[in-house]
Amino acid sequence: MKFLTAEPFRIKMVEKVKKTTISERQQILKDAQFNAFRIKAENVYIDCLTDSGTSAMSNEQWSALMLGDESYAGCKSFYKLEESVKDVFGLPYVQPTHQGRAADYIMAQIYAKQGKYAIGNMHFDTFRGNAEMLGALPVDYVIDEGAKANNEYHAFKGNIDLNKMQSLIDEKGKENISVVIITITCNNNGGQPVSMKNIREVSALAKKYDIPVVLDSARLAENAYFIQQREEGYKDKSIKEITREMFSYCETATMSSKKDGLVNMGGVLATRNKEVLEIANQLAIVHEGFITYGGMSGRDMEALAVGLQEVCEEDYLEYRINQVKYLGNRLKEAGIPIIQPTGGHGVYVDGRQFFPHIPQYEFPSQRLVVALYEEAGVRAVELGACAFGSKDQTTGEPIWPELETMRIAISRRVYTNSHMDVIVNALSHIYSNRDQYRGMKLIYEGRITSLRHFTAGFELL
Ligand SMILES: *Cc1c(COP(=O)(O)O)cnc(C)c1O
Repeated sequence: MKFLTAEPFRIKMVEKVKKTTISERQQILKDAQFNAFRIKAENVYIDCLTDSGTSAMSNEQWSALMLGDESYAGCKSFYKLEESVKDVFGLPYVQPTHQGRAADYIMAQIYAKQGKYAIGNMHFDTFRGNAEMLGALPVDYVIDEGAKANNEYHAFKGNIDLNKMQSLIDEKGKENISVVIITITCNNNGGQPVSMKNIREVSALAKKYDIPVVLDSARLAENAYFIQQREEGYKDKSIKEITREMFSYCETATMSSKKDGLVNMGGVLATRNKEVLEIANQLAIVHEGFITYGGMSGRDMEALAVGLQEVCEEDYLEYRINQVKYLGNRLKEAGIPIIQPTGGHGVYVDGRQFFPHIPQYEFPSQRLVVALYEEAGVRAVELGACAFGSKDQTTGEPIWPELETMRIAISRRVYTNSHMDVIVNALSHIYSNRDQYRGMKLIYEGRITSLRHFTAGFELL
């Protein structure tokens, strides 16, 4: 539809959000030691901390909940979910899990091997944690255009670099590489998509050396939409034709249903390999629940079965991807430095460029998170010096990351473009007064540096 510009739904039920005053927010920030994770959600006006588990369900999903039956052996909700997953993924075997990381855990038990490499574009944190516990060696081989926070346009910044992959195979031998995992979209660099051509070529290369391919597919529909819009030969294909082709190149897929499942909790492992299914079933019984629910209640499986279908609707995806783009474009017009092109699930503001006078060791992106909450009650998240900073193992000297950003994650079907405008206005206001802001000092970081952002405490300088 040529003039279609608004949300492809109407609002049937609303949830009130609280507006606080600036002095209340200053107190809240102080009480939270200036860490957004420590602010109560009820004190947030527009919550852009994450896109995970925050989707709004449709009337169809809410009514499906009522159809949910008990969750145990052979329950009927499982078969509905199985049908829906088979339809979208085109893979024959399905094991539900309580959330994505449980599917990751099972997948890692099967595909990650001690002392062997796991090639990925950018591995998700929970797989990385599993791999490390198993003694496997995860390597990130995203193309150079996707590895750095830059603004050069590339349609598929989530692609895997085939040359790097070939070199590792040549250097270490195929027997030392246990799996290739392609994350669609690539979460860690901003929800950047992977092209069908890249999935096909990575799969062909892996097949040549008998290395299995797994798709980590939390945002599978968003990736499919980017392929439809940007890749030659796909504009007349339906989203499901595209998702099925994507998964035709892998042996197994994992999914966090908290993103493109359009539900608040749940996960999926799907495979074409019967042996993988059997191991997954057994691991599920030990860790998750019986095969036909894997930690999900019947009603949650019903809602997910519907959500997986809705997320493949083109009207929905057009609205979804364009809302993220709308926010990105408006910020760009206001002169605010963002990472381009915008990806599937959020906009990343470049903290170093926003506050050039605040050095990285004084947490410029975290300062921006604090300013945005203080000014407008909008909660975003730092992905920079605090979240990704580390320490030298021997000297204890801090190591500062390449990425220094504030992520504004957009929940699915939750906010309107008027909310996006509030974010733009608030950031513009902060940007015009940027000289007045000073940095921050980390005063508490807990014991595990890689997890410090969740519980850290700060002081304003
Ligand atoms: C969120 C996510 C996971 C983990 O899923 P949870 O449902 O949060 O446990 C794994 N992989 C990717 C790519 C994700 O985005």
